[in-house]
Amino acid sequence: MGWQARQTKASGTLKPVRLIPYGEDPLAVLVDTLLTDQASRLPQLDHVTILLPDLAESQRLRHLLLTHHKKPGALLGPQISTLRSYLEANTPPAGSILNTHAQELMLVEVLRNHPLSGQGNPWHLADELLKLFEALQLGPGEKLSMESIPTAFSNEAANIQLLWQAWQTQLDTEKATTRANLYSNGLSNALFLEQQKDKQIYFLGYDWLHHAELDFLLRYLKKGQAQIFVSPDQPLWSQLHQAGISLPENNEKDELGTLLNSVYADDRQVLKDRAKGYRKKPSPLVGRISIFKAGDAEQEARAIDIQARQWLLDGHQYIAIVTEDRRLARRISALLRRANIDAQDSAGWPLSTTTAAGTLERWLETVESDFNHLPMIDVLKSGFLSSPEFSKEAVYHLQLDIIEREGVPHNVQAYRQALTNRTAAPGGKRSAIVEQTYTLLDHLEHAAAPLLHVMSRSALDPESMIDALRESLVRLGLWHGYDLDSAGQRIQQELQDMQQALNHLDLKLDWFEFRSWLGRALETHNFRPALENSPIRIMRFDQSRLGRYDGVIIAGADNQHLPGSQHRQIFFNEAARYELGLQTWEIERQQCFSQYRRLLQAAPQILISYTGESGDSPALPSSWIDLLETFHDYTSEQSIENQDLHQMLTLESAQIESPYPANNPEPAMQPRPAMPLELVPKQISASSHQQLIDCPYHFFAARGLRLREREQIAEILGKREFGSLIHRCLQAFHSNLDDLDGPFAQTVTEDNRANATQMLESISLQVFEPELETNFEHRGWWQLWQGLLPGYIDWQIKRAETWTVSDVEKEYRRPIGNTSTQLMGKIDRIDQQSAGFGLIDYKTGTIATPAKVESGEAVQLLTYALLIEETLETVYLGFDARKGVKTESKVDQEVLAQLLPAVEARLVSMLTAIEHGHTLPAWGDDSSCRFCEIAGLCRKPTWHSDGIP
Ligand code: SF4
Repeated sequence: MGWQARQTKASGTLKPVRLIPYGEDPLAVLVDTLLTDQASRLPQLDHVTILLPDLAESQRLRHLLLTHHKKPGALLGPQISTLRSYLEANTPPAGSILNTHAQELMLVEVLRNHPLSGQGNPWHLADELLKLFEALQLGPGEKLSMESIPTAFSNEAANIQLLWQAWQTQLDTEKATTRANLYSNGLSNALFLEQQKDKQIYFLGYDWLHHAELDFLLRYLKKGQAQIFVSPDQPLWSQLHQAGISLPENNEKDELGTLLNSVYADDRQVLKDRAKGYRKKPSPLVGRISIFKAGDAEQEARAIDIQARQWLLDGHQYIAIVTEDRRLARRISALLRRANIDAQDSAGWPLSTTTAAGTLERWLETVESDFNHLPMIDVLKSGFLSSPEFSKEAVYHLQLDIIEREGVPHNVQAYRQALTNRTAAPGGKRSAIVEQTYTLLDHLEHAAAPLLHVMSRSALDPESMIDALRESLVRLGLWHGYDLDSAGQRIQQELQDMQQALNHLDLKLDWFEFRSWLGRALETHNFRPALENSPIRIMRFDQSRLGRYDGVIIAGADNQHLPGSQHRQIFFNEAARYELGLQTWEIERQQCFSQYRRLLQAAPQILISYTGESGDSPALPSSWIDLLETFHDYTSEQSIENQDLHQMLTLESAQIESPYPANNPEPAMQPRPAMPLELVPKQISASSHQQLIDCPYHFFAARGLRLREREQIAEILGKREFGSLIHRCLQAFHSNLDDLDGPFAQTVTEDNRANATQMLESISLQVFEPELETNFEHRGWWQLWQGLLPGYIDWQIKRAETWTVSDVEKEYRRPIGNTSTQLMGKIDRIDQQSAGFGLIDYKTGTIATPAKVESGEAVQLLTYALLIEETLETVYLGFDARKGVKTESKVDQEVLAQLLPAVEARLVSMLTAIEHGHTLPAWGDDSSCRFCEIAGLCRKPTWHSDGIP
């Protein structure tokens, strides 16, 4: 046995370790111990400090101190803090302290000149490195040093050492320090504590400590100035044991605690044998712990919602919902809100997922994409803009009349021009709405101006960028909208912190780097709505370790979330982490288990829930839950499965009613209307032909009812898409277009390759240049096309050996059977040889597979072949960043000879059937439905099964 608790209360020193039985409230144990230890000095407790891992339970701790203190006089102290804040506050800094934003910025700057920067996103790398530097600083063994490379380090570690040295040099140059340095210095020196001999410190809630933290703790335990409260399953228990601290016996007396200790005993006895001693007794689990297995995630969320509300009705005032499944947490929150219960979500969620951050992102996209209508309309309808410039009428006029009807996809000047054209039309006059729409556009342009200015600069100090962003948001009115929204206020705060981070830093960023920095700030900082007094708290496991509740729900207790899986570490594998004294996955697992184990006794009633399915695959419960259930099955006939909840889920009285009662809609049926003769289209293009094959109802709605405004817009917008720009370049290269260079009049061969390339480059520049000026995103396309262009010339040289270009971008038509419909198609390129034609379709996106083409399922190229007699082959020419320029899904003459008559006969028969009043059923498969524009009309997910023939 090492040194131990020889000190006594009489000598004014503290007993080093106290055990907290799982069944007891840790804060109450601390308060009782502290008031007893300090009885002689009460009510004076200003020499006492209580250190907790976080301050979430500090209010309850103060309340317990006040209520348990029975002696006269108001308590003076104690101080309640975290170890880190306590030391940081008492350690003089050696330079100005950088906040996390500033540290990331500086480290990204260091990484720019280092080989490691090639390993991925520099912001992510910086984030991981900062954590790693701190962990290595607090770990055991050889510390990172400015002189030598630790012998335990591999090449990878040596690289990190070099980075750390560069980082420290940068800090020295900037006369700055980090909170991690301050904390590390505080742990090793703590001079202020050395001078306060009567200071006494209580540690509570720590599961595991870094080596330097443990050293600090042991120093003051040995002096009798500190006391720590631990539970047997915490990894800290082993750390103290290994440090030679004698630990108290775990004499569990509680019946449930004894049983749970047997369930999770770490011994060689098999579970069944361990369970023997508990047979024939009423199980303490029954009525105390129950398990709910849900069929799907929605059912689990609804069951938890019902259980939480039931407990509230039973008078419970403090309910914890503990889960690592953030999606489930948000769903539960939403369900409770339907019942007017605002649960306090202690874990919060990334700021980037809030509507406020989403609107900011859409505004930046609006400016970057030259006022593209999609992000712009989202901003205008966000609900954050309340200034008179954004009247609803003006927004709808802009969307419906200018963007949709006039087909203007982006550019403020183009929107204005379309407005002018409309009012100049016969009968058109400038109404109040038109005037409001002009004002709206002026306002948008004015708000974007500061951002456009900084975006146009190659590199700028980030302070000016934040100023410009703020100014833009103020002008837009979004800043004012943020004043009234708690997530918006957090964004304002974050921008302020980012600005502060830049004090004294001499950095230059381009717009892309600034965007990454901003995006990272919103992603890595959480938002927690302030709801201090809610009776229901949703939290992670580590946030539950000091709580005591009336009811606990351990939710999402499947093996993917409890204990979850090992995070992917960028640096060092598990073995190296263990050697370097860094936190390993095994330690994390032990911490999670001790938190879970404590929760099982943290309330008189516990519900554990999990979902039996995850996506398409069955999910397993956590092995800890499995063990509990199996052990119980060995000991008792009574199930601990929560049947009540299953039953309540079926009860209407357990559901929250809508405040707007209405009859439930009739179950929807699979639509299969007939098309009135006058609605049958007079022409059918390759894409409508495809639509008819994929889903006749889609064809009916889009082509018959002409519900295809969105599609038309998409087509108009598509003209500016990457594929269309390439089409235009190649059209000019092979034919005469007035406004562009070209065509290249000779056959392209190896001999004239340079001239051909030069010509295509010159055409491409003319096509892309106007787009580059107005649209930020197009710069990436330009680079992509520059990379693909030589591949096209290679392909063309080969192609020209057997084919000559006959026509490009040409439209063809012909009647189809005896129907009243014409078949039509615009073919990208028709090549010729003596025996016939080769049809080419340029593709920058997904290409139909050969199997789909040859089975007649993908009909685009076959439709073209129906239009051109003597077609010898059809091919897709793919333009792909990865694969280069390549022909795909080629169909030759022999296959065409078999396929075309069948495809034509099918089309004639379908059109004839439509003309004769046959119905058009909705039968789209998943791939068609995923992108279907009229899915809202067909409502496939709501179809009643009887409606499906
Ligand atoms: S959602 Fe699917 S089934 Fe419904 S119309 Fe669209 S493609 Fe057809």
